[in-house]
Order: sequence, then C-alpha cells, then structure tokens
Amino acid sequence: MTAQATTTGAPADETAAEDRPASVDIRIEQDIAAAIFEQRMPPGTRLSEARLGQLYEVSRTVVRKALFRLASDRLVEIRPNRGAIVPRPDVTEARNVFAARRVIEPALLADSVPHLAAADRRTLDALVVADRRAHEARDRQAMIRASGDFHRGLARMAGNDVLFEFLEQLIGRTSLIIATYQTYVLPHCAEHVHEALVETIASGDVAAAQQAMIRHLLDCEAQLHLQDDDTETDDLAGMLDAHATDTAAPAFTDTRNAR
Ligand SMILES: [Zn+2]
Repeated sequence: MTAQATTTGAPADETAAEDRPASVDIRIEQDIAAAIFEQRMPPGTRLSEARLGQLYEVSRTVVRKALFRLASDRLVEIRPNRGAIVPRPDVTEARNVFAARRVIEPALLADSVPHLAAADRRTLDALVVADRRAHEARDRQAMIRASGDFHRGLARMAGNDVLFEFLEQLIGRTSLIIATYQTYVLPHCAEHVHEALVETIASGDVAAAQQAMIRHLLDCEAQLHLQDDDTETDDLAGMLDAHATDTAAPAFTDTRNAR
C-alpha cells in the first residue's frame, strides 16, 4: 500500500483534474492522517474541499473520496452543510474507546493464543522489530503507526473479520485520541511492552495473555492527559481558594516570579 502515484504521462492541463491517477485521493488521505498524528493538524481544523483541491490540483470529487474514507475511520467528521473538520474526541469518547478495546482485544486473544503457529510468532516478532525501529528513530508518526500495526497484526491472527473490523476502527480513533491528549512526546505503547506481551502470548496461557493485554491498555490510557480543556469554572475557583487558605499572600505573585 504505497502512496506513489503511477502517472501515465498525461499532460497536466486544467481539464485533466478528473483524470488524475486514483491514488491521489489515497495520498490526500495519508497526508491528512499523518498531519493529525503528528499534531500538525489539530482537532477543530476545517478541511475545505476547495482548498485541498487547489493544493493537490485535483477535483473536489477526488478530495471528497479521501475525506469520506477518513470519516469512516473517524479521523474526520463530515458535518452537513458545514464541510469536514478534524474532530476532537471528548474525554468520555476517549475512555469509551479504550474500554471497548479492553473488551475486544482479550476476546480476540482467546481465539488466537491457543492456535498460534510458528509463522504467527515470526509475524509478531517482525512487528515488534518495526516498533523498536520507530522508537529508536524517535519518529512519532511511525511510533503511533507501528503500535497500531502491532495490535492489528495480533488481532488478525484470531481469524474473526467482524471483530477485526471493529478493532481497526478503534485503533484509528485511538490515534486521534493520542494526538489530542498526549501532551508529551512519548510513545503510547512502549515497544518493550509489546515484546513482553508477545512472550506471554507465545506461552499459550490465554488468561495470562488477556490480563497482560488489559493491563497494557490501561497503561496506555493512563499515559494520556484525559481532561477536557474547557474545565468548569467551579474547579478553578476551588483551586484558587485552596491555594489562598494555604498562604497569606495572593497566589498570583508566586506565579509571576516562577520563571
Ligand atoms: Zn500497545
């Protein structure tokens, strides 16, 4: 699955926009996904079809194809009469996505762990290696992608296409959640955790593998700063009151001299 467009050498005149290689919409999709994961495109960004069409020199139809696919992965929200936007998953949604993963991923392990073949083990090892390389390169986008690939690759081994599709969507949404709520540049899934997970899975102990997966997903969630930005003013007042009772001087003087 490469983003490379195989051009046929057609002249690039204005009317050729519709005849552009179909893969341009895939490139648009991948570029937008990458921009979201790398936090270059924050939640709330409006994705104008006309502007994207200009940037990629394609028709709005081509742009729309990319946007619809992104929307099916929940990386983009298409609002009637208002166009596409990068959604901001709220805290409840973020927690629900992780909760859903804690149900689905252990369920998939119940099917895959007892039947794991040598080839599956090699696949898992390769995924862990790719994961480690991304971490060593400190390539944030590659890290998020490699983490997702690991979970996807593992899930595929269960042979349940329906549950796999559910998980695929959840992993895409997790990427957006990470991009929204991870405030520091650290991987959400450390590669050594995946490595340990593979060992547990390879031992053939279903219950142990399931517990390890649940713990891992809880850790991933705990690493995120899951708080809505628009916090209640009550909370702010509470915090200032608490500070004021501790010190005689107003809290604000401290803050000014802090840096
Ligand atoms: Zn992970």
